[in-house]
Amino acid sequence: MHTLTGKKIFVAGHRGMVGAAIVRRLEGEDCEIVTAGRDIVDLRDQAAVRAFLADRKPDIVILAAAKVGGILANDTYPADFLYDNLIMETNVIEGAFRVGVERLLFLGSSCIYPKHAPQPIPEGALLTGPLEPTNEWYAIAKIAGLKLCEAYRKQHGVDYISGMPTNLYGPGDNFDLEKSHVIPALMRKAHEAKQAGETGLTVWGSGAPRREFLHVDDCADALVFLLQNYSGASHVNIGSGNDVTIADLAREIMDVVGLEGALHFDRSKPDGTPRKLMSNDRLAALGWRPSITLGDGLRATYAWFLDNQATARLKVS
Ligand code: GDP
Repeated sequence: MHTLTGKKIFVAGHRGMVGAAIVRRLEGEDCEIVTAGRDIVDLRDQAAVRAFLADRKPDIVILAAAKVGGILANDTYPADFLYDNLIMETNVIEGAFRVGVERLLFLGSSCIYPKHAPQPIPEGALLTGPLEPTNEWYAIAKIAGLKLCEAYRKQHGVDYISGMPTNLYGPGDNFDLEKSHVIPALMRKAHEAKQAGETGLTVWGSGAPRREFLHVDDCADALVFLLQNYSGASHVNIGSGNDVTIADLAREIMDVVGLEGALHFDRSKPDGTPRKLMSNDRLAALGWRPSITLGDGLRATYAWFLDNQATARLKVS
């Protein structure tokens, strides 16, 4: 058990959905939380990152900053997804080591597993096969980050660990249709169709792919749990342990939003990887379980969306 009491914890990426949830969760611990927006330190700027870390001297770093996006954004901006993520994680991990940070938590993502990994995906499936082409740019960067933590641990004996969250959703999500993941995208489309008095919902692809989803507050809880209870070279999967088809998810979202009608499938859009369910066994063995069901999580997310439409990154840009 590693205590967080009295520790100074730098949460990189606190304005993102995950970083914000981590800050909310850490507020329940007796620790000092350090954050810095891009206006204060651009994590792509090595000199700025080094100077910031030397000045603030955190005990622990949680690296939740990343350039993220859904299937279309990944496919459209490959250079940004690869470069921005590589440089941010390199700067933060190396910068943390330089100033003597003993514990660091890096966030991977379930999309870094091979496209045809065995399901549920065990941690050991990493680097055993080709990646899903639509998000390989992001995946390559995240794999490098994971390996960087492992390398610093191996070479320098520091306690740098990695958590591997599944598809996340919740308050603070990106509802911009060209960049968003499936839940905020379908939620917004269903909401706008209902507002316009229309029926039915158009879903990208065939509706057949299966995805696992975890509410971001559950994810933040699991990450803090790992910081407190885990120390090891291997990353740890963080998931709900259940998956649904995109078609079933879309029906559930229609239900939450109160939209009637049928589903339509736009097969000109990609399906992506056929299934992505991670094995939760390692995290369960450590003693952590999720507490928010998909239905409750979707209802809470829709309530947040209704309250925050003006600020919910709605613009199509
Ligand atoms: P992925 O998990 O990396 O594939 O990312 P996404 O969350 O973007 O997509 C998950 C699945 O939902 C894919 O099969 C998409 O084709 C499907 N999907 C259906 N409708 C939408 C939509 O409106 N937006 C997005 N982003 N995905 C959609």
